[in-house]
Amino acid sequence: MAQKTVFKKIIDREIPAKIVYEDDLCLAFEDIHPQAPTHLIVIPKREIPSVDGVAEGDAALVGHLFVAIRKIAAKMGLSGGYRVVANCGRDAGQEVMHLHFHLLAGRKLTWPPG
Ligand code: AMP
Repeated sequence: MAQKTVFKKIIDREIPAKIVYEDDLCLAFEDIHPQAPTHLIVIPKREIPSVDGVAEGDAALVGHLFVAIRKIAAKMGLSGGYRVVANCGRDAGQEVMHLHFHLLAGRKLTWPPG
C-alpha cells in the first residue's frame, strides 16, 4: 500500500494539527511553517495528489473547497484580503502530494511571488 501523506495522517488523526475548520468533505489547519500571520492549509478529505490530478468528477469538491475558504476567511475576519495558493508539481515547490490550498493573510503580500 502507498505510504500515507502527512495530510492524510492529519485527516486520520494520526498526527496532530491545529484544525480551524472541518466539514464532511474538507479540513483546514494551521501550516506548521507559517509564511504569514495567518497561514492555513485547506484540503479535501478525498485523496487527490495535486491540481494536476483534479478530474471532471472533482469539480463540485473543488468548488466546495473555495466556499469553505470564503467561510473561513469571514470567520477569521480577513477583511483586508488574503491570498489562496496551490503549488502544483516540482517546479512550483509542491512538497505534499495531497491537493491543498494555502490561505495566507495578515500582512501585505507582494507580487510576483518568488
Ligand atoms: P506545498 O509546498 O504546497 O506542498 O506545501 C506544503 C505545506 O505543508 C508547507 O507549507 C508545510 O509547512 C506544510 N506542512 C507540512 N507538514 C505539516 C504538518 N504536519 N502540519 C501542518 N502543515 C504542514
